[in-house]
Formats: sequence, C-alpha cells, structure tokens
Amino acid sequence: MTKTALITGSTSGIGLGIAKAFAAKGYNIVFNGLEPNGADIAQQVAQQHGVKHLFSPANMMDPAAIRTMVAEALTTFGSLQVVINNAGIQHVAPVEEFPEDKWDAIIAINLTAAFHITKAAWPSMKEQRFGRIINIASAHGLFASPFKSAYVAAKHGIVGFTKTLALEGAPLGITANTICPGYVRTPLVEKQIADQAKAHHLSEEEVIAKVMLEKQAIKDFIPIELIAQTALFLASDEAATITGIAMPLDGGWSAA
Ligand code: NAD
Repeated sequence: MTKTALITGSTSGIGLGIAKAFAAKGYNIVFNGLEPNGADIAQQVAQQHGVKHLFSPANMMDPAAIRTMVAEALTTFGSLQVVINNAGIQHVAPVEEFPEDKWDAIIAINLTAAFHITKAAWPSMKEQRFGRIINIASAHGLFASPFKSAYVAAKHGIVGFTKTLALEGAPLGITANTICPGYVRTPLVEKQIADQAKAHHLSEEEVIAKVMLEKQAIKDFIPIELIAQTALFLASDEAATITGIAMPLDGGWSAA
C-alpha cells in the first residue's frame, strides 16, 4: 500500500526538501504552504517522482482550514501515515519591543497548528494502528537565544507536546518525535540574517560567523537533505521503537 505524508510548509526550504525526499521514496504527498506558486511547486515535485499529490494553501493560523486540509487528505488518499509539522515563522526583537501580533502568530503557526493537525489525523492513525508524527522544532527547542522569545517558547512547547503524543501514541502504534536542527540556509534564515544584523548592529557576514554559527562546533549550515533523510528514517518501520525524542541535528551546538 502506498503511504501518504502530509507536510506543512512544504513549498519552501526544509519542508520542500522533506517533500522531495518522501516523493522520491514513493509516498503520496499532501503539500501545504503560502507561497503564491505553491500549487505549481507541488505539481512539479509530484510529477518528477511519479507520485500522487494534493496541495492545500491552508493557513496554519486557521484551525478550520487545518481541519479541512486533513479531511481532504483522508478523502483523497483514504489514510494518512505520516504528518510532518514543519511550517514556521520567526521574528527577532528584544522582549520589550516584541510586537504582540508577531508573538501570537509564532505561537499559532509554530506550535498550535501542530495540535490541530495531530488532533484531526489521530483517529485515522489510531484505527490503522500506524502513525508517524514528526515535528520540526529547532536547536531553539532545547536552548534559548536572546531576541527570540516567541520562537524559543513555541519550539520548547512543541518538544513537550511531542513527548506527550509519544506516551499517548505508544499503545496505538503511533510514534512522535521532534527534529531539532541548527541553522539551515533557507528563506527563513536569510531574513533572520538581515534582522539580526539590525538588532546586533553587525554586518551580515558577522551575523553568520559570530551570532548564528558561533554556537555550532561545525561551522557549516545544516543541509536540508540531512533533515529530510532523518525524517524518512523516523517514518520508517525500522524506527517503530523510537518515540518521544528530540533529535539534535545541530553541528555540535548541544555538545557544548
Ligand atoms: P521557510 O521560510 O523556507 O519555509 C517555511 C514554510 O512555512 C513556507 O512554505 C511557508 O509558506 C510556510 N508557512 C509560513 N507561515 C505559514 C502559515 N501561516 N500557514 C501555512 N504555511 C505557512 O523556512 P524553513 O527554514 O524551511 O523553516 C521550516 C521549519 O524549520 C520552521 O518550523 C523553522 O522554525 C524550522 N527550522 C528552521 C531552521 C533554519 O535554520 N532554517 C532551523 C531550525 C528549525
């Protein structure tokens, strides 16, 4: 039976890389994202790998749209084996200046959306006694950095949420894990480089060397392909007894 993977935020960056890797393994893909050309991106990836797909522009701030996306996925493919909560945004500002609407959006997209998707997908995973929930947190799910209060709160939150899912899912054949990457050069990070340069009064080159990769022992951005292959492994039958972990892919950030 062909398995189906739903990946949020999969028309850019890490999510797109994960979608390509799952498509290459023959999964049906439910794409999601806000890129204006998202439907075309989804179509191209699916066509390249000869897999079926669905594209949903559901906004992760809208619980009703999230429920509709999961319902459409179940109607189209009959079942859902893998959910990857990846959509995320960032905003960098000192706490006293942190805009309230940015706080609310970061918590909604980076944390609460994963709850709504999981809740909607859970009954079908429970019925088939197989499910893989993979949440893309961050090294900031385990450690803090200044000026990222909402992001660090949301990412720590999703690590805790995932551990609870692991306990509830264990008797049902459902595993839940988080991947905690260090810095990955995607559009999200390109924006942060500019924002951090402003906040720290540094050049963009100095932000990369002194602020971002400063915490990683290996001074390279984490490859998207490494995250995608890790997600594929966590989704596999072989990973059935791995659950509740927060796996750092952080170039040694967590070793210090
Ligand atoms: P990105 O900006 O390239 O992609 C983010 C995706 O999320 C896009 O497809 C975007 O459309 C989607 N998205 C944003 N808001 C949305 C909303 N309201 N509704 C639906 N979709 C929405 O970013 P990325 O770097 O690929 O980040 C992906 C995930 O990885 C995020 O959760 C991020 O926090 C996490 N992460 C990134 C890094 C990094 O260094 N890039 C490191 C650790 C963790």
